[in-house]
Amino acid sequence: MPEKQKPKIAIVSLTSCEGCQFALLDLGEKFLNLMNQAEMVDLRLLEDEEDKGEMLDIGIVEGNPVTDDNVKTLLNLRKRSKLLAVLGNCAAMGGIPEIKNYHNRETALKHVYKYIQGINNPEIREVDNFVKVDFTFPGCPITGEEFLKYFPELIAGKVPQIPDQPVCVECRKKGNRCLLLDKKPCFGPMILGGCDAVCPTSRMMCQGCRGLRPKGNLDAMRHTLKDMMTDEEFENTAEIYGLKDDIEFKSKIKNQNAK
Ligand code: SF4
Ligand code: SF4
Ligand code: SF4
Repeated sequence: MPEKQKPKIAIVSLTSCEGCQFALLDLGEKFLNLMNQAEMVDLRLLEDEEDKGEMLDIGIVEGNPVTDDNVKTLLNLRKRSKLLAVLGNCAAMGGIPEIKNYHNRETALKHVYKYIQGINNPEIREVDNFVKVDFTFPGCPITGEEFLKYFPELIAGKVPQIPDQPVCVECRKKGNRCLLLDKKPCFGPMILGGCDAVCPTSRMMCQGCRGLRPKGNLDAMRHTLKDMMTDEEFENTAEIYGLKDDIEFKSKIKNQNAK
């Protein structure tokens, strides 16, 4: 009997720190075992073989489409892939690079480069502004265990569903004392869980790298935090992982629906 063909996969990085790909490599043998179920056509951190541009079952993309080459790579990946998944906060929500969208971009650039002539400085736009995205592995970086959990569904041609529950559920399961009880801010209730509440477990606020829950109550969250953060502090924190534009968008839709 002929051997069943393995699904073809490519993991491609656009402009990014590649930390999400490293989160995969950190899984070690577990990642390699999972990848044995597929044919890896492109994964820059593991092999140098040239991607021959064949059709793919799953295209996975990390980072921001910033340069013209990035955009070309992304459009090409979408065209070749039956399913396209994004890896991490930068690709899904703009991530840390999106902070500059909210500030004077010339000034931001001067802080980074001494000579700015000839440096292109486009606005950061998430992957779904360019192509259809079928699934998001959230987080900065992604949670490796979550990749192991949902990737087999993608291989089977299905789009997984991450349960709509807040970071608080895992936080409480760990027996943590809630930061809010100590009047310390935390975005946990409005943020999609799945990271094992790593930040509040270290007594750091959740800053929302996994993005908003579909059914999170933003008004209640903002109201709860009123005594703990100024509006400016709330907005500055929401800028860190690209939450700010998502909050604005969700509030706008809610206001339109209320009319
Ligand atoms: S989401 Fe975070 S870890 Fe992943 S590429 Fe972006 S900055 Fe790096
Ligand atoms: S510390 Fe944060 S994540 Fe944990 S229960 Fe409180 S609000 Fe939720
Ligand atoms: S606790 Fe919040 S900021 Fe920390 S990893 Fe989880 S979602 Fe991201």
